[in-house]
Amino acid sequence: MAGELSEDVVGSKVTLAGWVARRRDLGGLVFIDLRDRSGSAQVVFNPEVAPEAHDRAERLGGEDVIMVTGTVVRRPPGTENPSIPTGTIDVVADCLDVLSKSKTPPFYIVEDLDADELLRLRYRYLDLRRPDMQRGLIFRHRLTMAVRRFLDSRGFIEVETPMFIKSTPEGARDYVVPSRLNPGKFYALPQSPQLFKQLLMVAGFDRYFQIARCFRDEDLRADRQPEFTQIDIEMSFVDRDDVLSLTEDMMAASIEETLGVRVTTPFPRLSYAEAMERYGSDKPDIRFGMELVDIGNAVKGSGFRVFREAIAGGGRAMAIVAPGCGGFSRREVGELEGMAKEFGAGGIVSIAVSGGEGDGLEFRSPVRKFLSDDELAGIVRLTGAGDGDLILVAAGPGPVVRNVMGRLRLHLGSRLGLIPEDEMAFAWVVDFPLLEFSEEEGRLVAVHHPFTAPLEEDLDLLETDPLAVRANMYDLVMNGVELGSGSIRAHRRDVQERIFSALGLGPEEAREKFGFLLEAFEYGAPPHGGIALGFDRVVMLLAGRKTIRDVIAFPKTQRAICPMTGAPGPISRRQLDELHIEVVNGERVDPGSGTREP
Ligand code: ASP
Repeated sequence: MAGELSEDVVGSKVTLAGWVARRRDLGGLVFIDLRDRSGSAQVVFNPEVAPEAHDRAERLGGEDVIMVTGTVVRRPPGTENPSIPTGTIDVVADCLDVLSKSKTPPFYIVEDLDADELLRLRYRYLDLRRPDMQRGLIFRHRLTMAVRRFLDSRGFIEVETPMFIKSTPEGARDYVVPSRLNPGKFYALPQSPQLFKQLLMVAGFDRYFQIARCFRDEDLRADRQPEFTQIDIEMSFVDRDDVLSLTEDMMAASIEETLGVRVTTPFPRLSYAEAMERYGSDKPDIRFGMELVDIGNAVKGSGFRVFREAIAGGGRAMAIVAPGCGGFSRREVGELEGMAKEFGAGGIVSIAVSGGEGDGLEFRSPVRKFLSDDELAGIVRLTGAGDGDLILVAAGPGPVVRNVMGRLRLHLGSRLGLIPEDEMAFAWVVDFPLLEFSEEEGRLVAVHHPFTAPLEEDLDLLETDPLAVRANMYDLVMNGVELGSGSIRAHRRDVQERIFSALGLGPEEAREKFGFLLEAFEYGAPPHGGIALGFDRVVMLLAGRKTIRDVIAFPKTQRAICPMTGAPGPISRRQLDELHIEVVNGERVDPGSGTREP
């Protein structure tokens, strides 16, 4: 391979095949940078050595595909290129075959290209030819292999589960596939292999995994794709700690194998309540401090009405301290205020601290005159703020305050450079609530999915206080990004039925939707649990990329479109008829031709 040549093979005859990355004509010689997957090497065509090859080389264009045979030589002193690994050698060509010509590509095939992403997706095969994109996919492959090796070494069996299924709810909309053989009936594409992996446990497989493709028809955000990959795991006869420690070992082993970095295990664990309280988020970035501080006690008798009333009304007053920001200008503080409002707060109060220890401290704040010295001393004591710091306070309903402060914390952390970029900070968030109220659906929904077991000690709250039931579930978070979730499952039919009923799913409906699972649970279901990690996100973070699209070979746009193939596209009248489908309110399709007509 071109990138593997070195001074060790000087004098050898080699044959290289690849793409013309660059051509230069200099002093009668033609120089070609030949690129293949491994890197590139400089090939020299000398009319005195190989006139015919030189002649052809003169007519080569960028991205032509060539095969060259030649001899590896040391470059003349002074002509070395230290910026590439093969910069000390040349290949002096004696033979050149042009295997295929290329049109001028719509963008340069270079590292760190700054081109419109739509154009890159339209010509994805050219985009993927760029070295940084190749490195991303090769890294993905190595991580896949590391994960497979690790799980295999721990006795896990990889089993493929079907793509055409009855719906598995993970909280998103299903993609559906019409069944030609069963008119009017549809398969759903799996939102995850959840029910099948549980059935594999009932079947006695004990340790299952799959690098599984999942499909969710959601509105796409930056790090979402309509189809994505999970490392999907399920184990029998385990409790939560078994799943967590297996996942930790898997992450540590595969990161060490691929990046040579040692990750410390076990990962810190926070309860959901603690994560929300300290970081204002259920996916805390624990690479830096600046934690939220409850200052309710200091301000409950405040002369500032907003503080006083928030506490009196059962709400919260919480602060964060922006270190060294006491000198922020009015405009800078105003920006933070604007942000807080965008995040849903009525406003925030800023208090700039200056001066010496204790009594010597001075405070600058738009609401200074409403705050007593005692109150300010209390705030300082609770927050630990000192000379030069800026205290930011939000007061109001707890969930709003935590969310606003959590987001301001992230903003300031990155703006102030407090986040160590090359650190990998893993954390578990555990004991989530089992159920939450969905405003959209006007009913209780599962926080994770309906197959999650409640904590044993909360079981009896299912009927009396369902929102207080904690789930035996866990999320893995890295650097503030949720990598995956899992849970111990309700493996008993009676418990599963109680959960369904708390979700408002009557026995009839439950049987209709998940009868096969409930039935399976009557034939000896082992206690089991598992986890699934969003593999695209894991690869993105470990490869240091900004979007998951960079580590997926053929991703879709935010509108779930593939600009290269044009998917999704219309289908012909004949296909529609065979599928017993009529498109109403849409565009009609011309019979047979597959082209659109108005
Ligand atoms: N099926 C779940 C998910 O995709 C993961 C799990 O519970 O194992 O989020």
